[in-house]
Amino acid sequence: MSNMVKYRVHEVAKDFDRTSKQISEILGEFGMAPKNNQKVLEERELDIIFAALTQRNQVEDLGAAVAATRKEAPAPEAPAAPAEEKPAAAAPAAAPVDAPAAAPAAETPAPAAAPAPEKQPKAHVPRQQPQKRVVDTRVSNVDLRKYDERIDELVPERAFNANSKEKIKKQNQNDRRQAPGTKRRNAEAEKLARLRQQEAAKKAVLKVSIPDEITVAELASRLKKTGAEIVKKLVRNGIMASLGDTIDFDTASLIAMEYDAKIEKEIHLTIEERLIDVAEDAPEQLEPRAPVVVVMGHVDHGKTSILDAIKKTQVAAGEAGGITQHIGAYRVEWEGKPITFLDTPGHEAFTAMRARGASITDIAILVVAADDGIMPQTVEAINHAKAAKMPIIVAVNKMDKPEANPDRVMQQLTEHEILPEEWGGDTIVCKVSAHTG
Ligand code: GDP
Ligand code: MG
Repeated sequence: MSNMVKYRVHEVAKDFDRTSKQISEILGEFGMAPKNNQKVLEERELDIIFAALTQRNQVEDLGAAVAATRKEAPAPEAPAAPAEEKPAAAAPAAAPVDAPAAAPAAETPAPAAAPAPEKQPKAHVPRQQPQKRVVDTRVSNVDLRKYDERIDELVPERAFNANSKEKIKKQNQNDRRQAPGTKRRNAEAEKLARLRQQEAAKKAVLKVSIPDEITVAELASRLKKTGAEIVKKLVRNGIMASLGDTIDFDTASLIAMEYDAKIEKEIHLTIEERLIDVAEDAPEQLEPRAPVVVVMGHVDHGKTSILDAIKKTQVAAGEAGGITQHIGAYRVEWEGKPITFLDTPGHEAFTAMRARGASITDIAILVVAADDGIMPQTVEAINHAKAAKMPIIVAVNKMDKPEANPDRVMQQLTEHEILPEEWGGDTIVCKVSAHTG
């Protein structure tokens, strides 16, 4: 294009048959005076020169002008001549000539107008200078965070749609978040865990149950301390005790208190204490119950056998060695009403059981073997029954045996302040046999 051609001031002057000075003056009028003749003229400058020269050199007779030009040209053409002489008639003839003549004139502003908008923005829009973002790495804390929103601004949205970049961004965020935050959180979590442990440890020591008597070793283990520690503590308190020694509740609690332990008294319940709830029931909770009859007496005098006879079962046959090990309770229907019978062990080791059996029942049946008479557990049973202030029915058993001596039994009973009805007393004495019924 025209802008590719370097059109200098002196070249323009030569082409228009003017001096360089004249061309410079034209431009000077428009405030664009070239520095020298070598100045390469821009499109705009050329437009001005062309326009100015065209304006200032209007020709009256175009044909003459063209002819004048032709004269200069090496081969003058004939058709131009008539037009020269008859300007009026030449008009139509001149028209085609006018067109090319006008064309450059029309063209002159045209290139000025056309390339101008093309060129001007190019010339005027300042080139965007690549701005350098400098992260100052000389400082110890490089805060990259403040560039993050810039990333959001600068990176086109679709870039974030690409998974990898999204990931990278997220990763960066995570890294940033974890770096200082996690440390603090970890420290907090550790602290919390430690506190919990301490609390748990406290709680573990808090409660210690101590029975009436406890060995030093057992106390140590319950306090979660070493035996040596406890022995030392005891010595400091003026108690010389070794690991195997037994100390009483008070001494043990003294030591436990030194460890800020909460002391509970450990109570060992006997079997019947666990079996039988001694707590008072509220009156509304009370229900009429079947009368309870307890069967007591010396071992092997036939208590279980009598109960067997009553309920017509064969419990005695199934018992270990024929000895009642625990209290057996049986419910028997008697004239449409239930009666509960308790079988108690006659063995000397079960005093507490007999005592319980006596204290919770309504009637005690004292079984005495007619051939054996009153024996130590018989006496004990009598005492339990009396302590519970309950009526006693004496069953003199094994009457089927030839050596049975019920009178001797009754004699012995009176010695224990039990007077049979037969003898004017208030105690019913039945002479029975479990075997014969
Ligand atoms: P418990 O320990 O008081 O319960 O006595 P048992 O009921 O276990 O009886 C002890 C033993 O005496 C068993 O071998 C029975 O067979 C026996 N015996 C129980 N009652 C009678 C009885 O009326 N006559 C005879 N001859 N033996 C009996
Ligand atoms: Mg028995």
